[in-house]
Amino acid sequence: MDAAAPSTSSACSVLAGLAGVRRWQESFYRHLHQNPELSRQEHETARLVASRLRSFAYEIHAGIGETGVVGILRNGEGPTVLLRADMDALPVREATALPYASVATAIDAAGVEVPVMHACGHDIHVTCLLGAAQLLVEGRQFWSGTLIALFQPAEETADGARRMVDDGLFSIVPMPDVALAQHVLPFPAGRVATRTGPVFTVGESMRITLHGRGAHGSMPHASVDPVVLAALIVVRLQTVISRETQPGETAVVTVGTIHAGTKSNVIPDTAVLELNIRSYSEETRAVLLNAIRRIVVAECRASGVPKDPEFELYDGFPLTQNDAATTGLVAAAFAMFFGPSAEVLTPQTASEDFSNIPDVLDVPYTYWGLGGIEPRVYQLAEQQGRVSSSIPVNHSAHFAPVIQPTLDTGTCALVVAALVWLGH
Ligand code: ZN
Ligand code: ZN
Repeated sequence: MDAAAPSTSSACSVLAGLAGVRRWQESFYRHLHQNPELSRQEHETARLVASRLRSFAYEIHAGIGETGVVGILRNGEGPTVLLRADMDALPVREATALPYASVATAIDAAGVEVPVMHACGHDIHVTCLLGAAQLLVEGRQFWSGTLIALFQPAEETADGARRMVDDGLFSIVPMPDVALAQHVLPFPAGRVATRTGPVFTVGESMRITLHGRGAHGSMPHASVDPVVLAALIVVRLQTVISRETQPGETAVVTVGTIHAGTKSNVIPDTAVLELNIRSYSEETRAVLLNAIRRIVVAECRASGVPKDPEFELYDGFPLTQNDAATTGLVAAAFAMFFGPSAEVLTPQTASEDFSNIPDVLDVPYTYWGLGGIEPRVYQLAEQQGRVSSSIPVNHSAHFAPVIQPTLDTGTCALVVAALVWLGH
């Protein structure tokens, strides 16, 4: 990994300005955390991003895919590197009790008022990328090439990356030689972790509408009860992973929502289940989808439904598969810069839509994990064997990355990785 050595010395020069960046980053992060915005509603976040990039004298392109923002810094001859951060938050009521906890609410796509929280840590990603953008403009004498800082909307609904591409992203930005992204995850802060090959699953959601026959609650014999049917299906679906997927193969089937009925003495006509389905290959995905459809249709027919169920797939995420050569270079640079705190990322069962950007033009990419948990808290949980029961994970109402060293580490990681290609 010869490319890593000169880049790391460029990185040390560029990162000399870290203390200056840290001065605004921490309060900027708290502000973002307290003012989260749902997917496709990231208007104020995008405005803050664009105004800060403008203050760094980047070339700004806003409103790509509705709320996406891109800053371009052309710094002479050399490769083009795309760094990406996502900006959206989730309909979760924050339960962290932090002084900067969100109490925000918003109207979601269905017209319902919901609480909003940066429960996935995208506020960390935005803050780190803005910090890296400033360090790289101020340290421009130590590198050459073109930097694209891309702030993507709507990652949580799986369509933000696609929308930016469809809105002409690649007619605006130069063709990147490499694309890089990171995600804060529940492992100790101060660490980064990379992995070659599959890193995030193919993920999607499925809405299943079960058609029963409603009746008075006192006359169940006159009904085909979709509540009982839904309950049987939820239990039977547990065998898709335990009995139909090869042991050791990564796969998840979760029934996340179940809706039926309005009153205790009314048997409803329908029930609706929403499933989340994840895997690391198209083959496993096909096994899961086929098994789910077969079980649901068969259970419905066993119950004597008047009409077969309906299936609708939505929120489809692509596979995130890190390019081996790209990941090798970044991992070597991280090992030199972060030392033993750079580690191998365990494969994640979460999903990401980032790869929809580089995959369009077959641009190689790598995506790494950034620790966000207070190291002493994590270590204690590890010693007591209760990491999974006591450390909040992404999307939890309690997930709140510790501000430092998370911001410093995420900012440094972006700079170090970019300079593998751009550094002198
Ligand atoms: Zn998320
Ligand atoms: Zn996320």
